[in-house]
Amino acid sequence: MWNPAMAFSAKEVVFVFVVTDNDIIGVGEIWSFYGSTRAVVDIINHDFAPLVRGEDPHFIERIRERIGGLAPIGTMEGVMMNALSGIDLALWDLRAKILNVPLYQLLGGYSDRVYTYASGGLYGRDKSIDDLASEVRGYCESGFSGVKIKVGGLPQRDDLERIAVTREAAGPDCRVMIDALHAYNVPEALSLAKKAQEHNIYWFESPVALTDTKGHSIVNKRSGIPVCANESLQGCRAFKNLIDQRAAEFVHLDLCVCGGITEGLKIAAVAEAHDLRISLHAANTVCLFSTSIHFAASVPNCDSVENHQVHRLLSDYAPIATMELQDGPYVSPLDMPGHGMEFLTPDFVDSLNKEIAEGLYESKK
Ligand SMILES: [Mg+2]
Repeated sequence: MWNPAMAFSAKEVVFVFVVTDNDIIGVGEIWSFYGSTRAVVDIINHDFAPLVRGEDPHFIERIRERIGGLAPIGTMEGVMMNALSGIDLALWDLRAKILNVPLYQLLGGYSDRVYTYASGGLYGRDKSIDDLASEVRGYCESGFSGVKIKVGGLPQRDDLERIAVTREAAGPDCRVMIDALHAYNVPEALSLAKKAQEHNIYWFESPVALTDTKGHSIVNKRSGIPVCANESLQGCRAFKNLIDQRAAEFVHLDLCVCGGITEGLKIAAVAEAHDLRISLHAANTVCLFSTSIHFAASVPNCDSVENHQVHRLLSDYAPIATMELQDGPYVSPLDMPGHGMEFLTPDFVDSLNKEIAEGLYESKK
């Protein structure tokens, strides 16, 4: 399987556990892979953990400032920010568990259900256009009213055919979104958008290079399709820059990349001040999905949460309600303390690692 940026057959995930003196465990997750996984683990265990140990978990901003102060000026980004995100998520889960409330209520509940869309439409070696059509029909039959597919991995003509087939399979009322994972330059993105427009595309995600904010802005203004960007951005200042340049209509963030819930709330507030909606990227494990649902349920200007149909690791261990669709595409935050991923303990991860090392683990997803 592949997307426009990479082919993959495995995934590495880092979980962060913060434990109180009386053994309450907060769990956070980090989106990281290849060499960066080892770097993140080392940063957390070697550099960050000593700064968290002994602190009051309710003082998250203070803990974050201590960690931020550790970094040489300007380096609190990349894997450093990924690591901070995981600690932040674990601390919020921990706080909610200590207070015995669901995470979304601690954050200030806004809704008890969240719109999710089916994210799939990847490329595959033997995947035909008919396979894509039946994949999309399957999503709609299971209740979704929004479908996202990848573009940018094949010549334009082939991707336009994939878009047309997706629209046809999804029907006229379904949201259809396209995600280029930064595959295009500006002329290429505008060219694709011009021809894709007739299929009523809800958003054009990550059309050009991550660092090309001006390019995103041009595509957003001229393509006729609203831009959604950017799941890999970190820190509220980077998002402010994106918004200042009106480089997206949908502000796209990932809680285990952007800096955690604390940073995500600030990003959502900056977006709200500009009358923009946010959407949450979630392409890792069920823990991030559940956390994202809680977060989205506490934010008034959230458009959607990504309901990934490929990257939903460990969903077979979580309560069924975690990803269960209601009234079509909606998912409710779990009515449990924290984000509700009780199965995720250090012992669980140890035994999972053992199974993986012995070749016994086979994820259903
Ligand atoms: Mg994306």
